Amino acid sequence: MRHVIALDVGGTGMKAALVGTDGALLYEARRATDRERGPDAIVETILGFAADLRAYGVEHLGESAVAAGVAVPGIVDAERGIALYAANLGWRDLPLRDLLAARLGGVPVALGHDVRTGGLAEGRIGAGRGSDRFFFVPLGTGIAGAIGIDGTIEAGAHGYAGEIGHVVVRPDGPVCGCGQTGCMETLASAAAVTRAWAAASGDPEADAADCAKAVASGDPRALAVWADAVDALAAGLVTALTLLDPRRLIIGGGLAEAGETLFTPLRAAVEERVTFQKLPEIVPAALGDTAGCLGAGLLAWDLLSTEVSA
Ligand SMILES: [Zn+2]
Repeated sequence: MRHVIALDVGGTGMKAALVGTDGALLYEARRATDRERGPDAIVETILGFAADLRAYGVEHLGESAVAAGVAVPGIVDAERGIALYAANLGWRDLPLRDLLAARLGGVPVALGHDVRTGGLAEGRIGAGRGSDRFFFVPLGTGIAGAIGIDGTIEAGAHGYAGEIGHVVVRPDGPVCGCGQTGCMETLASAAAVTRAWAAASGDPEADAADCAKAVASGDPRALAVWADAVDALAAGLVTALTLLDPRRLIIGGGLAEAGETLFTPLRAAVEERVTFQKLPEIVPAALGDTAGCLGAGLLAWDLLSTEVSA
C-alpha cells in the first residue's frame, strides 16, 4: 500500500506514523528522544527510527515509503532542509533532510518547523478547517504560532514568522531565554504557569494542570496565578490579531487542555482589550499532540504532488 513516513521530533519524545494516500494512519509508533545523550546521538536515533519505519512498510504494507516528512523544533530552513538551530536538542546547521534522504534510499524528504507543521494539519484537517485565515498558538513549554493563509502556513523571509511567544507583553517582566524581558512565553506558557503555581502553592511538584484543577475548584491563589497568565496571553494575542486579522484563533498545547477553565476567561480578556479590531473565533485545537506528526505526513504528500506537477 502506498504510504509516506511522518515523524515529529520533540524535546522529550518522537511521534511517528505511516500515512496512506487518504491520510489514514496505517501504523503509529513513539520513541524517546533522550536529549541528554547529545545532538549526534539524537540524530542517529531519528535516522534509525526512520529506517525502522521504512522496514515496517516493506514488511507489513508490501512496499517502502514513497516520501517522508519530518517536523523539528527550533529555527528551520525548510527550503534547504536544514535545522538551523534548536536550543533543546543542541543542533546547529544540521542538514537533516539530506541525512534522512540518504538513510531512506533517496526518497524525497520534507523538513518542517514543528509548530508550523502542526498548524498545517490543524488548518487542513483540524480546528482551522474551512477557515481561510487562522492563527494557531500551542501553549507548551514555550509558545510559537503558525499563521495560516489560504491553506498554506507563512514561514516568513528567514523562517521566523509567527514567534508570538517572544512578543513583549510586560517590559518589566521576567528575563526570557531570547534575551528580552517580559516575553509572553515567560508569563503564559505551560512552563510559566507551572513555575508560578509551584511557587504560589508551595508544592515544587505542582504543575500547570494542577493549577487548572485548583482554579476550577475556586482556590484563590490559583485564580490569581491563572488570571495573571490569561492577562499576558490576551495581551499577546491582541497584538497578533491586530497585525493578522485572523478569522479564527486556535489555541492548543498543554495549557489548552484546561478547556473552558482557560477559554472562558481568555475570550473575555481578549474581548475587553480590543477596540476597533474584529474579534476572531477563539477555539481549542482539535488534533492534540498528534498535529505535528499529521502535518509531517501532509508535508510528505505535498512534496510528491509538487513533483508530479512540476
Ligand atoms: Zn523571548
